[in-house]
Amino acid sequence: MKSFTKPWPTTQLLGITVDCPRREDLLNRILEHVKDRGQTTHLVTMNAEMAYSATQDSEFHKILAQADMIIPDGIGVVWALGHQGVPVSRLPGVELVEELFKQAPSQGLRLAILGSSPETLKAFQDQLPERFGQVNLVFARNGYFKPEEEEQIIAELNHARPDVLFVALGVPKQENWIARWRNQLEIPLLMGVGGSFDVLSGRLDRAPVCMQRSHLEWLFRLYQQPTRWRRMLALPRFVMTVLRT
Ligand code: UDP
Repeated sequence: MKSFTKPWPTTQLLGITVDCPRREDLLNRILEHVKDRGQTTHLVTMNAEMAYSATQDSEFHKILAQADMIIPDGIGVVWALGHQGVPVSRLPGVELVEELFKQAPSQGLRLAILGSSPETLKAFQDQLPERFGQVNLVFARNGYFKPEEEEQIIAELNHARPDVLFVALGVPKQENWIARWRNQLEIPLLMGVGGSFDVLSGRLDRAPVCMQRSHLEWLFRLYQQPTRWRRMLALPRFVMTVLRT
């Protein structure tokens, strides 16, 4: 089975290897890999909070170190790499998820979702045909399952034979889950996608384009979900850590 080779450069950020693909190269390489039914590959879309957590939590650092591909999702990571002299463009996970759903009918992709609330999942599935056409969603299950159900979930997933599994359990739960089960899964691409389906289903708004362009998407998220403030303390800490290294 083919492993995931990368035709783009990588760089280091706080001891983590980060991939620097161009958006179209990433998409093309993913499509090629899933068509080959290549080796199970873990794609992480990393923001500043995750990069900072990895400096504090050795287990999480280990999981990121074992991931096959880490792309810069979030302006903090893009800023940090620019500060190190490596200009990269931002590759938000939610946009990659949307792109794969768009490509699914023409490319014959078999997609699967594990995670999100039952309401989000239903809202997203209801909109699928109108928004993306005939998508072959071969597995969809909300993220509120018990640990004793996981063996069964793995068996069902392998039986469904998806090309891509979107794991929407939030950080770090989704990365831990993928690391725990990846060797049992016969799926070419595993990707942690956080709250992407909350946004794509329309249950949570994405920041207006002007805020995205002004690099203030994080501020909009805080406004929408004020309970995130504690998590967001990682942002200034991340900046300080980068400036100190
Ligand atoms: N979630 C889930 N199971 C859980 C905890 C969370 O399915 O046990 C889902 C939750 O419904 C939401 C997503 O995971 O859709 C987490 O979204 P968030 O925006 O917090 O993701 P993060 O910022 O951590 O990537």
